[in-house]
Amino acid sequence: MKQAKEKGFGTKPDDISVPEKIALIHSEVSEAFEAYRHKNITGKDGLEEELGDAVQRILHLCGILGINVEEAILKKLDFNKTRKWDWENMNEGK
Ligand SMILES: [Mg+2]
Repeated sequence: MKQAKEKGFGTKPDDISVPEKIALIHSEVSEAFEAYRHKNITGKDGLEEELGDAVQRILHLCGILGINVEEAILKKLDFNKTRKWDWENMNEGK
């Protein structure tokens, strides 16, 4: 949060627009997709960097909103143990 404050990214809910922050997370994920498409994995603006940007933005938003993202991830992982995916009826690459 120190860097977020210093750089003007906001540190509390009144400082930010949540929809805008979500859109910015999405933009970083799209940048990661484009980097992968262009086989830029480790370079400037590469997949690694863009995924890092996305995670930073997610953690920043979680911090502002008081979301315990570690707990949320663990809870969802636990739930997913009970789920099954019907890959035969999904148009999704593996
Ligand atoms: Mg980026």
